[in-house]
Amino acid sequence: MPELPEVETVRRTLTQLITGKKIKKVTVNLARIIQRPDDTKLFSQELEGHVITCVGRRGKFLRIEMDNLVLVSHLRMEGRYGLYRSDEPVEKHTHVIFHFTDGTELRYRDVRQFGTMHLFAPGEEFRNKPLQKLGLEPLDEGFTLEALRKVLAGRKTKIKVALLNQEYIVGLGNIYVDEALFRAGIHPERPADSLRDEEWTALYQSIISTLTEAVEAGGSSIKSYVNGQGEMGMFQQQLQIYGRKNESCSRCGGVIEKSVVGGRGTHYCPRCQQL
Ligand SMILES: [Zn+2]
Repeated sequence: MPELPEVETVRRTLTQLITGKKIKKVTVNLARIIQRPDDTKLFSQELEGHVITCVGRRGKFLRIEMDNLVLVSHLRMEGRYGLYRSDEPVEKHTHVIFHFTDGTELRYRDVRQFGTMHLFAPGEEFRNKPLQKLGLEPLDEGFTLEALRKVLAGRKTKIKVALLNQEYIVGLGNIYVDEALFRAGIHPERPADSLRDEEWTALYQSIISTLTEAVEAGGSSIKSYVNGQGEMGMFQQQLQIYGRKNESCSRCGGVIEKSVVGGRGTHYCPRCQQL
């Protein structure tokens, strides 16, 4: 599933590809992708004639802003966008097509069909599902050490499980939580309320550095993720712990282990990250 760096990469790509384009009409081939309004015809009608002004992001959600309208889009497992000329053949699993007045089309493909789209009046999206309850945005200025400790430090939950909860912090998924905890030297099963001062500082810094480096590299592509221009993310090569079971730890040379924490496959170095 794309995490913050991948979605940010898609956001940047889409910004270049579709800003300023005017929607002529919208074709919906799979109704379940459209979550709001619940009538797909209404969805298409409401979008007609609107100009895309910018592409934003909240956590793992894209916010495609138009004059007087915001489209909130979640790619979930396999969703992807691509810009095509209208005379190019439509690929299989293309569920939504935004036809622009300049003869190009933004196509949304999703083999697994788990992606979602919600349409809102500007500002309304933050007061409704799915953005309503989202937590701290880790690459924003408001993400401080104090803010991190305030949402997590009192919890008895395992630190990995707490970091995956989008109501506390957004954008971190299985890959980047494992990376951030490895960099900080914290075992994923430590209860959040057991972390010491220096560990909070290390974790805070590792969350920012891991995500920032991944955004700069264009995100990871563990499975079939491709960003909005079809480029594979390059951060995968820089992952130090995720997917490296039985390989040697880059820090101590010990053997990296894999276990299950909160139902998720979890990689860690038992020497560098002690319980
Ligand atoms: Zn180690």
